[in-house]
Amino acid sequence: MDGRVTRRRSFALLAGAATLLFAGEAMAGGARKVPDLRQDPGGRSRSRAATLLVPLTVHLAATEERPVATIFRLQRAIERANQALDAYGIRVELRQLLRMPEGFGSITRRRDRRRIAQYAEPNGSVHVFMVDTLELRGGRRGDRSVRGLHWRYRGVLRRLRRHEYVIVSGDAPTTTLVHELGHFFGLSHSDSEENLMCSCRRGPRQIFTPKQGETIRRGAREFLRGA
Ligand SMILES: [Zn+2]
Repeated sequence: MDGRVTRRRSFALLAGAATLLFAGEAMAGGARKVPDLRQDPGGRSRSRAATLLVPLTVHLAATEERPVATIFRLQRAIERANQALDAYGIRVELRQLLRMPEGFGSITRRRDRRRIAQYAEPNGSVHVFMVDTLELRGGRRGDRSVRGLHWRYRGVLRRLRRHEYVIVSGDAPTTTLVHELGHFFGLSHSDSEENLMCSCRRGPRQIFTPKQGETIRRGAREFLRGA
């Protein structure tokens, strides 16, 4: 584990890197990132046009000024997602990396989820929150801590109704993000250990099946259409 000073400095670097790396992308603007064929008649564009580009806005929580995850961890999770999604013509891209204000590091109740949903205005991207503590409280199953969560807003604000969100804990395994994105685009759980939608998944080799790939693609297309 790094020392305190190093970690602090890495947050500063992270913030700087985020601005430099992603300002261009953010400025590119527009809810959709589907290439426009009319302006890009090259042969290369044909295969790229088939790829659905899904922008992510990642909100990174910090506790005591330290981010809950490093940019490397985030990049690994995004790469892992693309490794699984590539075969089905989908790519997720980090559109914006934002630091969350104090007080958002711990998500344990439904009202915490409503609060972060209100904080992240719909902008055509998938909002992903990386937090320190993630817990599901109450209910028949009692309290349990989880590493990732996908949910749909059910509060009173009409503009947020039916919007969906992803939360990942800072210490989540690399596959958690892609698992939650699977839910986001319409998949339920699988009980095969080889499958990314299994909560039993272990190791580096899990995949989405072609049938799941179709569902995700449909979900991604609908998302981009509504974005
Ligand atoms: Zn799940």
